[in-house]
Amino acid sequence: MTISIIMAEGGGPPEPKVQKSQVSSDLKKELKKGDTWYLVDAKWFKQWKKYVGYDSWDMYGMGDQATFPGPIDNAALYKDPQTPDSRHLKEHLIDELDYMLLPTEAWDKLVSWYGMVNGQQPIARKVVEHGMFVKHCKVEVYLMELKLCQNDNLDNCVSQQFSKADTIDYIEKEMRKLFAIGEDKETRVWNKYMSNTYEHLNKPENTVQDAGLYQGQILVIEQQNEDGTWPRGNVTNKSSSSSSARNMEMGTYSAPATRSGEDSEDNENEAGSSNEPTPTIGTPKSSPYINSYSSTYDYSSERGRGQVQPGLCGLSNLGNTCFMNSALQCLSNVPVLTRYFLENHYQEELNSDNPLGMKGEIAKTYAELIKQIWSGKYSYTIPRNFKTAVGRFAPQFSGYQQQDSHELLAFLLDGLHEDLNRIRKKPYVELRDADGRPDEEVADEAWKNHRLRNDSIIVDTFHGLFKSTLVCPECSKISITFDPFCYLSLPLPIKKERFIEVVLIRMDPAAKPMQYKLSVPKMGTVQDLCEALSRLTKISPDKMVVTDVYNHRFHKVFAPDEGLSHILDRDDIYVYEVPVNTCDDPDTLILPVYMRERKVRQNPSYNYNNVSTVLFGTPLLVPIPRKNTTYEDLYRIMIQKMSRYIQEPDSGDEWYGEEIKNCVKDGVIGDDDMKNDNLDGEAESEEDSCQGNESLMNDNSMSDDEVNCDNRPHRMFTFHLVNSYGSAEIEHIRDDDRPIKFTNRSYLALDWDPKAKEKYYDEKQAEELDVDETVNATPMRKRQVISLKDCIQLFLVKEKLGADDPWYCPSCKKHQQATKKFDLWSLPKILVIHLKRFSYNRYWRDKLDTMVEFPTRDLDMSEFIINDGHGYATYDLIGVSNHYGGMGGGHYTAYGKSREDHQWYYFDDSSVSPASEDQCVSKAAYVLFYELKGSRCERSEKQTAQANRKSAAATQSSANCTEDNGTTSSGEDDSMEIN
Ligand SMILES: [Zn+2]
Repeated sequence: MTISIIMAEGGGPPEPKVQKSQVSSDLKKELKKGDTWYLVDAKWFKQWKKYVGYDSWDMYGMGDQATFPGPIDNAALYKDPQTPDSRHLKEHLIDELDYMLLPTEAWDKLVSWYGMVNGQQPIARKVVEHGMFVKHCKVEVYLMELKLCQNDNLDNCVSQQFSKADTIDYIEKEMRKLFAIGEDKETRVWNKYMSNTYEHLNKPENTVQDAGLYQGQILVIEQQNEDGTWPRGNVTNKSSSSSSARNMEMGTYSAPATRSGEDSEDNENEAGSSNEPTPTIGTPKSSPYINSYSSTYDYSSERGRGQVQPGLCGLSNLGNTCFMNSALQCLSNVPVLTRYFLENHYQEELNSDNPLGMKGEIAKTYAELIKQIWSGKYSYTIPRNFKTAVGRFAPQFSGYQQQDSHELLAFLLDGLHEDLNRIRKKPYVELRDADGRPDEEVADEAWKNHRLRNDSIIVDTFHGLFKSTLVCPECSKISITFDPFCYLSLPLPIKKERFIEVVLIRMDPAAKPMQYKLSVPKMGTVQDLCEALSRLTKISPDKMVVTDVYNHRFHKVFAPDEGLSHILDRDDIYVYEVPVNTCDDPDTLILPVYMRERKVRQNPSYNYNNVSTVLFGTPLLVPIPRKNTTYEDLYRIMIQKMSRYIQEPDSGDEWYGEEIKNCVKDGVIGDDDMKNDNLDGEAESEEDSCQGNESLMNDNSMSDDEVNCDNRPHRMFTFHLVNSYGSAEIEHIRDDDRPIKFTNRSYLALDWDPKAKEKYYDEKQAEELDVDETVNATPMRKRQVISLKDCIQLFLVKEKLGADDPWYCPSCKKHQQATKKFDLWSLPKILVIHLKRFSYNRYWRDKLDTMVEFPTRDLDMSEFIINDGHGYATYDLIGVSNHYGGMGGGHYTAYGKSREDHQWYYFDDSSVSPASEDQCVSKAAYVLFYELKGSRCERSEKQTAQANRKSAAATQSSANCTEDNGTTSSGEDDSMEIN
């Protein structure tokens, strides 16, 4: 006796087949800037796909009510599922793993068919363009948080989320609303830099992205005074600066600016637009004042000063270009490189036909930019030409879209090198094996070979040499090579530990589930997790089963040797204490048990009802005797297991309605489904499936004869063997005295009568949890201080290559997981150090905000250099590229030490401000620039020029870089000393 799906006449959702074809054609839609897409929980969507037979392997379940997805439930995506606010999503959600993106058309259909869980807002997101050089569209899953405040109360910042596609105008309106500013008031919006300088956002139609606003940016709204003046003073007339824009030679607009360049970006936007008069705010000012770099800047007295210190020139943000600006300011403060460009040596060495180069474009536009920065005329400039030139060559550098200042730097150093390579035709160089020859000889040869093909100011300045040693674990073949580098990428020795919260369900039915927070090795296994829990509970690790529970079912049961990387922080991990943790135990079977409630689902949105079962509560793992367990036994075991939160009806209780007879087959699924369901057991062994089929037959015959019913007691719940998802019945268990047959693959569903559940199942008790003190204890954060030297040491440590990254052993003629060791052989004049703060993999994306302490002076690298003849290697810091904020966004700035006055400055896009030496050392430090002590030439520029020309001809190798007065680390530098 089955109840099949009752479909409503008319207004109901179309048949699954139709749903499938409609949605799948919507999903072919391409991303278009400005369109709205919707996030939907990936698990819900998967269930829907099953229901409509979206994929061929799901066809058998098509239309099966057991796979009916129910209303759209995005609970797993909100940061706080209790108050599902579509603006605040859980962090680190992954596309297709956690959510699916649906175009508006598809979303609208699904909502009209299924509705949404009460109280949830749709998660609508706009398509925005990403990538600085290569535009591609992306749905903006995470919004950007801006901090809003009023000019007269800067301490009271209110955080609000905005899309990158929102306009300044929209933000201004939001701010006016937020601060209840009357409609009659005039307002202006300012971008407040970290350096405490301000930029006027005077283009209301600009988007957040156009304006180069970034996560955490502070915006200030300012109200006009009664007398028409502005608290922040008036802004320079635009038309005066637009004329200067047209006078600019290279087409790069560098307007003399007010304060921090408040009319940055105007006029320069598109060529031609500068002809139009820009709307003016405030009164024109005849003599624009310059010098934006002082935070203690006196507004009136500086006016009219026509000079800024060379090099202290901000770079306007051209829309998320802060990473480029940061890298450029670091390079600009490398004296030897900047001098080379200012003195036009690059013109002699421009190599425009190098197929590996950028046709000289990168070098030329870089030179233009450096000349502007160092002209002393501008307090900021717009690096548009440079950006365009880099963009032209960018497609081959995919790393770009990550907008990483280090990636850009690597590209830039490489691009400049090839554009300025003095070698016009690279000779073929045969590589020789080290073959037991002394290091000096091999290193010498490697450097010579490198110089034969690569000879430029970049090689002179930035290239060093390191030794790598690979040892085959099988044949002990040793391979030694010496390779050039232009920066060191250092790993951070962070504590490889993480915390995982779990809920322990004890065997004792009286014990409440208990939540623990476990400290486990990041790269550990499930066994490590069990051992950590064992230390707190004294339960033996081999009496634990670790599971991931999702939506009241076992989403996954972990094997002890599985890696903990498979457990995400947001997973609900339940650990069950069991008497035996093996399938082989002859006496006891551990049976997974789901709670289900028979429900008549009323779906108001399209007006049809159907009977179905709904999972609820926490699933159980229940030990039962393998043999001779009857229905009554099983019923007793379950009641005992749930005794903490269920009650048994008194014999006199008339709780059951007349219409319900528990031996009547549950009217959930049709016969067709019954047959199909059995195919679901993808994990079932053949034997099991056979048994299943057999019992299925019995069951069918049974469903027609409702004999015996009245002799059996009223049960609060009946039993089904179900699939692992709990969504499809495999076998109805007869309420008789015959032993029930279970297999190791059996999942049992307890199908509660709704009335019984309401009366005797105490939901509150069932869900109650004790919380162990480990959960709230803030883990002992030993303020871990890492020093730069720790990072260098870690870089130099011998390690075994990963299984996915093996080495081809030329002697074994196969790939081997060799051991690898790096050693430093010779270091360059400018040592660039990249701290690997970002880590990515399938399960883990993270930025390490750990403080790395590094010296600003006298970094002695000699202890790390294995070349005895190397000599002096002490460095001073000259630049730092900083990154603030998290993955995939944030903001870049730079510290740079001026070669003019030897003071430190902070470069934050178009603003420049003085800084102190110790400010440079912060958690934000990402790429460090060190200069070899003494190599900074206090000597005359002319001498250096000569030296550079000589070094162009020098082909000395690094191996003979013996040094006396601490000037060099690589051979060509010797020639400098000739002067
Ligand atoms: Zn080998």
